[in-house]
Amino acid sequence: MLFKEIVGHKELKNRLINTVLKQRISHAQLFLGAEGSEKLALAIAYAQFISCSNKQIYNDNSELLADSCGNCPSCIKYQKYAHPDLHFIFPVATTKSVSSKPMSSHFLPEWREALSQSNCYLTLNEWYAKIGIENKQGRIGVDDANQVIKTLALRAYEGEYKVMIIWMVEKLYHSAAPKLLKILEEPPPKTLFILLAEDTNLILKTILSRTQLVKLLPLPDEDVRDYLHKNFQVSEDKIDAIVNLADGNFKNVFPILSNEVEENPYFDSFREMMLLSYRRDFINMRNKADKLSKIGRENIKQLLQYGMRIVRMCLYQDLGNTELVKSSGAELEFIQKFSRFVHKDNAEQINEILNDASFHIARNVNPKITLMDTMLKIALIFTKK
Ligand SMILES: [Zn+2]
Repeated sequence: MLFKEIVGHKELKNRLINTVLKQRISHAQLFLGAEGSEKLALAIAYAQFISCSNKQIYNDNSELLADSCGNCPSCIKYQKYAHPDLHFIFPVATTKSVSSKPMSSHFLPEWREALSQSNCYLTLNEWYAKIGIENKQGRIGVDDANQVIKTLALRAYEGEYKVMIIWMVEKLYHSAAPKLLKILEEPPPKTLFILLAEDTNLILKTILSRTQLVKLLPLPDEDVRDYLHKNFQVSEDKIDAIVNLADGNFKNVFPILSNEVEENPYFDSFREMMLLSYRRDFINMRNKADKLSKIGRENIKQLLQYGMRIVRMCLYQDLGNTELVKSSGAELEFIQKFSRFVHKDNAEQINEILNDASFHIARNVNPKITLMDTMLKIALIFTKK
């Protein structure tokens, strides 16, 4: 992964490049960015640049100060995510083929495939689906923490640096934390830890205090627009629609670009849930809850998060702040109609119901019951005049 292949984040890329050029790489960094943001891509580009034996330094007025060459033996291994000094740790759980003591190393082929399929915009949801653990909670366990220590005790094979990328450090299991903390405190020389996370509230304070925080800001619409102009032949109208749907997250752009999907994948399900609540159609609510309970916890969480976004848009629409309604096509039509029912007097309550449901799903409450309960509660709100 070259820096120039990643959309946006010009300032951050140059900051990372500078740490290498000036030999001021801090040994433990925490990249914090929203789900599906560029953090994993940036971490890999950073590690690849450190290891590249033919760094390209730009002296003209390029956006970037420098980048990896993409052709040296190190870069070639990096492009396959298979450099012997590049190590990955990520959440896993038992599966049909790994029935006990699951570790990241058991899933490396799937991991590399997932990275290349998603262009490093991997979400937890997609990862769980990839290894068939949609209905489980993956974690980074004590066996992986031991593996980190073992791996880093060995000398670097080729590069000067050994890089340990720990993805979704929120999933670090409590019993694994002390080991990781210890090695973060006293790392072997020439070791770089890049921890990746989405939510600092879910990370141990002791981990936070031992890492340098690197925050990814949401992509400005201009960066997305710019990238689309440079790389794709699409109409201005379509670009507007894509930028709105991306909502500061470039991950959302791929499905629209690849198969002409104009809508969020959760749009139909959420709309149906709301219509059932509005009609107080209890029988179909139960059927819908049953059907949705099978899409996996992470997908249900996404659906509920998406619902909260729609509620927010309905509120803007109701308040007349239509410039804040970032939507188009069928979704916009729905928001315009639905804002008669979701408005300033009840949006907060509905949002809270969806948020509670998301919280319960994350904590293993039965998904069917949670979804049914959500639709019932919202139905009750719709009956209040
Ligand atoms: Zn290179």
